[in-house]
Amino acid sequence: MTASRRTFAIISHPDAGKTTLTEKLLLQGGAIHLAGEVKARGQARRARSDWMKIEQQRGISVTSSVMTFERDGITFNLLDTPGHEDFSEDTYRTLTAVDSAIMVIDAAKGIEPQTRKLFEVCRLRSVPIITFINKVDREGRACFDLLDEVADMLALDVCPMSWPVGMGGLFQGILDLGTGKVSRPEGGSKEFLGKVDENVVLPDDVAEEIELAQAGYPEFDLEAYRGGDLTPVYFGSALKNFGVVELIDAIARFAPPPRPQPTEAGPVEPDHKEVTGFIFKVQANMDPMHRDRIAFMRLVSGTFKRGMKLTPSGLGKPIAVHSPILFFAQDREIADSAEPGDIIGIPNHGTLRVGDTLSEKNQIRFTGLPNFAPEILRRVALKDPTKTKQLRKALDDLSEEGVIQVFYPEIGSQWIVGVVGQLQLDVLISRLEAEYKVEAMLEASPFDTARWLKGADKALDDFAAFNKMNLARDRDGDPVFMAKSAWDVGYQQERNPDLTFSATKER
Ligand code: GDP
Repeated sequence: MTASRRTFAIISHPDAGKTTLTEKLLLQGGAIHLAGEVKARGQARRARSDWMKIEQQRGISVTSSVMTFERDGITFNLLDTPGHEDFSEDTYRTLTAVDSAIMVIDAAKGIEPQTRKLFEVCRLRSVPIITFINKVDREGRACFDLLDEVADMLALDVCPMSWPVGMGGLFQGILDLGTGKVSRPEGGSKEFLGKVDENVVLPDDVAEEIELAQAGYPEFDLEAYRGGDLTPVYFGSALKNFGVVELIDAIARFAPPPRPQPTEAGPVEPDHKEVTGFIFKVQANMDPMHRDRIAFMRLVSGTFKRGMKLTPSGLGKPIAVHSPILFFAQDREIADSAEPGDIIGIPNHGTLRVGDTLSEKNQIRFTGLPNFAPEILRRVALKDPTKTKQLRKALDDLSEEGVIQVFYPEIGSQWIVGVVGQLQLDVLISRLEAEYKVEAMLEASPFDTARWLKGADKALDDFAAFNKMNLARDRDGDPVFMAKSAWDVGYQQERNPDLTFSATKER
């Protein structure tokens, strides 16, 4: 069963075409019922206020967080990486739950900042990447330019798998470099409707380009791709349906089936009998008043069955998973089980946290779900000072959910929140009001960044003796160095070689 799962995400900069491509992938896979929901979200995201409304309603983003479709006996689990202009840790963490990714690039723009950041996260875990250069139905940059940019900026080998026959007004289709067949545009809309030509005589300039391309780039190498060192590149147009089936086929043929997941005692293989998984995302449910949450678990090993008892690492005692949300392709018979690579939504009241391992025997702990050093820090000030308790509860909850990080300074009572993107601050204020009835203001913080401290007790104590003003505890009570600048971090690291100042924290 495991060999028939492909769990992946799409990474891209806003507007590159992720929503359009997602829709087309789902349409090809027969999961048409979901396509409308995806679109609704894609449009809503454009306007910040709409996006927040949607986030508060929650229903849509829960169902489109995991999209499942089937084709040729393979089940594809597509995990949505929230695509706001700003980053959140949510986005990063979702990438810890996939086995591969599609990187969508706008042919007119090339690699954009967010594509690059997301790529770096994939690289941390050697997540293999298939590249889709989108919008070739419009005027774009030269193919060689784009390929070289991917190769140079991302330090990856590139291997073109297809080639556009002209772009923009001159677009005449996509040549499959493997088979020599050309997919053709048809009708007034110039869409791909299934017309494929064989033995095509290509225009001279295109033939020449292709000759150069085949001589100039390495051949496809499955091992290099799976190791994250080479990316196969497909040209296409999500809007006009070019290259979509080729992408699905590429994922089916090349992308890895569920991978083993790391623990301190060595990796857990998908064919390990015991049911194990980890929570990579927690989302508040439809009704904010009830504080219900859905925890998204990536199944690592075993066959999950409804009603099963699993022990969350953060809790210690087993919970029965009676009403899991199982995400299924439309035409699959409703089953009550899930396989490694699948995602299960587990409703709970805040007991499950991002990074928790769930398992039958409670002996396994997955590693590798990081917290990231926040790039923006703010002091939280209350409008009504009698609400301190509510604020503390809210900050704890929201940090468990991964919306923010919270730091409680050793000295003084002003709590500090940290985020990796500005939008998270807006979400924080709005949710404090809506869900906790707490009116708060965010003020400039004296600190610029934070680093988790690790070291022997003595080294930590010595450091604390001199730096109390700069010490805080995170939600878990772990020590954090609050720094005034990146320079400050470097300086302290040099002076305290026995301590590590870590920009990420693994739970
Ligand atoms: P996202 O922000 O990455 O999800 O991007 P969308 O899928 O919402 O697309 C952004 C804009 O680009 C929309 O106006 C799409 O219609 C358009 N778009 C997406 N794919 C293509 C394509 O292949 N060709 C052209 N011409 N436009 C496209």
